[in-house]
Amino acid sequence: MKIEFRKVPLQPKEFEFEDNSVKILGTFCKISQRLVECDAKIKGVIKTSCYKCGSDFDYNCDEDVNFLVSNGITNIENEDKNLDQIIVEIEDGFIDFKEILDSEIESIKSEYYTCHNCNEDSIVNIEY
Ligand SMILES: [Zn+2]
Repeated sequence: MKIEFRKVPLQPKEFEFEDNSVKILGTFCKISQRLVECDAKIKGVIKTSCYKCGSDFDYNCDEDVNFLVSNGITNIENEDKNLDQIIVEIEDGFIDFKEILDSEIESIKSEYYTCHNCNEDSIVNIEY
């Protein structure tokens, strides 16, 4: 799903895009000439593996993702924005939600997760 940067409205607009049973949904709006703010959620099942035992399992994802889309390289110091925010730079004038979703899924996958078996182990090990 691609949206032309210059057509992004100033009022928050809802969007939803789904790919391989993972969904990105939320709102986006233009906050300056070169920046679009996106307030979204990633929902769905992401296949990942347990960092303790290595077995594959389905991670049920429900995460908030807030990011800015910059049309071209933005010198963010000139913008009155929070530096902690993720900035997605686009070069062709189109916001590609598939690309954004793919890279978010990759970063979610790169975190550490434990499968149900290992989760149960760690709960059992807690002593009061
Ligand atoms: Zn495990």
